[in-house]
Amino acid sequence: MKDIMPIGGQFAMMSLPYEALDNAISRETLSFHHGKHLKAYVDNLNKALPGSGLEGLSLQEVVRRSEGAIFNNAGQVLNHTMYFEQFSPAPKPMSDSFTALIVKHFGSVEAFKKEFEQKGATLFGSGWVWLSADKEGKLVITQQRNAENPVTQGLTPLLTFDVWEHAYYLDYQNRRADYLGALWQVVDWPTVESRL
Ligand code: MN
Repeated sequence: MKDIMPIGGQFAMMSLPYEALDNAISRETLSFHHGKHLKAYVDNLNKALPGSGLEGLSLQEVVRRSEGAIFNNAGQVLNHTMYFEQFSPAPKPMSDSFTALIVKHFGSVEAFKKEFEQKGATLFGSGWVWLSADKEGKLVITQQRNAENPVTQGLTPLLTFDVWEHAYYLDYQNRRADYLGALWQVVDWPTVESRL
């Protein structure tokens, strides 16, 4: 994906590219998740940046170079931007070439989805499950805690499901696996593939 740059030293709050994803995530969850949780991360990052020595860098570079509160907020801004942008109420399917890449690395699309869901369901506490490409183009699924993003490991992140409870609790309560299974309905694959 392309670098996300600050404007006048501040990162902008992304606008949601849709109004609802009712077959997977309710409007209420989207409203809190985007309007309250993401907004707090953006505001806290923008408050912490002046004087940090990280001003003017891309969001991805801030995540790579920071730690503590700046890392936590910058990571969550990057993670949520990628999360919200990859969904659509009218999602387009995986291309033939990306399907072939998934089959090459995981055996089948179903096996890939099963491993992705399983890694999301078994991540203890708060975090994210990611599909990324490494430097050689190999696809990997990783569990990342809290605000972590695969860019800190030199990977190119492609797809992510948020498994913080705030992402699903209003709709699914403790049924994280049901939330993970429902998200496939709204993944817009051209957006995911454009990150490679
Ligand atoms: Mn979240």
